[in-house]
Amino acid sequence: MTWGSATATGKRRQNQDSLLARFPVFVVADGMGGHSGGEVASELAVGVFRALAVRGELAPEDVTTAVETANEQIVAAAKRDQLLAGMGTTLVGLVLVHDDDEPYWLAVNIGDSRLYRFREGRLSQVTVDHSYVQELVEAGRIGPVEARTHADRNVVTRILGMHGRHRADYWVFPPEPGERFLLCSDGLYAELMDETIETVLGRFSDPEKAADELVRLALRSGGNDNVSVIVVDAGKDGSGT
Ligand code: CA
Repeated sequence: MTWGSATATGKRRQNQDSLLARFPVFVVADGMGGHSGGEVASELAVGVFRALAVRGELAPEDVTTAVETANEQIVAAAKRDQLLAGMGTTLVGLVLVHDDDEPYWLAVNIGDSRLYRFREGRLSQVTVDHSYVQELVEAGRIGPVEARTHADRNVVTRILGMHGRHRADYWVFPPEPGERFLLCSDGLYAELMDETIETVLGRFSDPEKAADELVRLALRSGGNDNVSVIVVDAGKDGSGT
């Protein structure tokens, strides 16, 4: 298994995204909150998953526990320091777990960072955003094109660290040979259409080069937000080893 990652600040003052790419754990977190709150929240969340990545074989419960731990740590840190009050972070993760000795991908999402799967030249979104515009799309009130430019497109409906809704969604699927995954913050898909992302993933076989090119194009098309990407290539036999 090989992977690559890239991140950039864009036109923002700080990079509040954090990422972790260390087999078998891949995570992108997009922090929000004034002062250094966003950076602290996303780094706290990634730190909990970093501790997972060195533990060896993981079970699905390790991931669900890590999500709860990350949430508790962010809430506790915000209570200790008034400057961090209200901070939070999205989290999208892809973790190879074992259940009854069988390897499975476990995807997790809270917020509007995304996991895509790229297979046989086609890009498909695995996660579903927790966002106001996604709710409007699902209710049939607006279309996906309108969602891209909607005034409230940055409103997330679930987040780690806020008092209230941090419930994660999970997806489980078996590894398949030759598949490629992309994890990203909204700074990528706000700037690039899915077709562009698909073309880049098809053109660059080296995951590091693909990640660099995606970030470069996002900056070139505006770079209005922090942008972070991880590209993961499964092993030839799909086992991830
Ligand atoms: Ca963002």
